[in-house]
Amino acid sequence: MNIALIAHDKKKTDMVNFSVAYTHILNKHSLFATGTTGKKISEATGLEVHRFQSGPLGGDQQIGAKIANNEMDLVIFFRDPLTAQPHEPDISALIRLCDVYQIPLVTNLGGAEIMIRALEDGYFDWRNNVK
Ligand code: PGA
Repeated sequence: MNIALIAHDKKKTDMVNFSVAYTHILNKHSLFATGTTGKKISEATGLEVHRFQSGPLGGDQQIGAKIANNEMDLVIFFRDPLTAQPHEPDISALIRLCDVYQIPLVTNLGGAEIMIRALEDGYFDWRNNVK
């Protein structure tokens, strides 16, 4: 599976802890991330992560383009709902494209815990049939 990982600044520690806890699952997949999120994940885990631009510089849109091209299977996005983001339109556009293309998306740690277990249990194997 191609997995996108994104975390807003105040959620980056959560993302690092999440990726450390689930390295054994994530390492079976192809990982993509916005710039700073990807850097922190690979530094903490040693995982290979393809890094796009930082979110405010277009990274969310680059991930959106992968979704529109049917090249992304899951999106784990630790959004900060309490801080205004300069690239809010890009964030909305990414979430919208997930909905357009029925791409499984979680926007918080609680959802991510369920998603990663479902991933391990093969619940997303249907994605292999739509590519
Ligand atoms: P970053 O981007 O990983 O480069 O910080 C995330 C975002 O703010 O959308």
